[in-house]
Amino acid sequence: MTVEELIVYGKKYTSSTHAKMLLATFLEVNPLELLTILDKVVEEDKVNLYKESLQALSENRPIQYVIGHVNFYGLKFKVNENVLIPRFETEDLVENIKNYLEEKNITSPKILDLGCGSGVIGLTLKHFFPDSLVTLVDISEEALEVAEANAKTLGLDANFLKSDWFSNVPVDKYDVIVSNPPYIMTDEEIEEIVKNNEPHLALYGGIDGLDCYRIILKDINTYLKDDYLIAFEIGYLEGSALKELVNSTIPNSKVIIKKDLSNKDRMLFVEKNID
Ligand code: GLN
Repeated sequence: MTVEELIVYGKKYTSSTHAKMLLATFLEVNPLELLTILDKVVEEDKVNLYKESLQALSENRPIQYVIGHVNFYGLKFKVNENVLIPRFETEDLVENIKNYLEEKNITSPKILDLGCGSGVIGLTLKHFFPDSLVTLVDISEEALEVAEANAKTLGLDANFLKSDWFSNVPVDKYDVIVSNPPYIMTDEEIEEIVKNNEPHLALYGGIDGLDCYRIILKDINTYLKDDYLIAFEIGYLEGSALKELVNSTIPNSKVIIKKDLSNKDRMLFVEKNID
C-alpha cells in the first residue's frame, strides 16, 4: 500500500492527524513530509505495525503509548504503560526551575527528582545544565528502567535510585528538589483514557490528593542546602491546602503558587535564599 492509501485507511480508525502521526513515526519522517511521499509504497512489516497501532488507538489506548515516545521540551523520551504520559504543564515546571537556576547563576546544581517516572524532569534539567548532579528516584522498578533507557538514548549521565520517596535516598544536600507526585484526589473525576491506561500509582494521591506531599515534606529539611528551591507540580484545587502544609513544616518559607496555561493553579515553589 502507498502512503496515501494508508492515510485514507487510517482515517477509518482515527483522526487524520493521529493517522499521519502514526504513519510518520513508522516511516521515521516528519508528519508534514508525508505529503511529499504520497506515492511511496510502504514495506509490509511497517504496514502491519501501522494497522496494529490503529487498532490499539481505536480501543482507546493513548497515542503516546502506541507510538512509544513523546516530545518533551524538545527532547525525545520513551514512554510505556509503566509511566505517566508527560504533560505540557510539566514542561512549565521545568522551565521555572531552569529560570531559577539561571537567575541565581547556579551552573552545577545538585538536583533531586522524586517520583521521576520516565525521567522527563530530571533528565531535561541535566540536558540544560550539563554540570549538574541529578538523582532520579522512583518506587517503581519498571519506571526506573524507562528513565534509565531515556538517559542512555539522550546521552545524559544521572543517578537512579529505587526508593519510596526519601526512604533510600542517602543524606545529602540539594539545591533543587522537584516532584510531580501522584496528586489526583481519590474521588476526583478524570478522563477515562487517563484512568484506564495510565498507572494509578503515578496518579492518585489520597482523599485530598496531598498524601505524597505530606511524606515528602516530613523529611525534606534534611536534604536541602541553605539556599534551595522546592518545585512541586500540584492538582489545580490543592494550592492553598498545600501552602498551609508547607508553612507548617517549613516555617517562614516563601511559597509561590503558579498557574498553568489553562489558568489553573499547577505549580508550587518554595524558595529560600540567604542573602
Ligand atoms: N496531570 C495529571 C492528570 O491530570 C496527573 C499527574 C499527577 O498526578 N502527578 O492526569
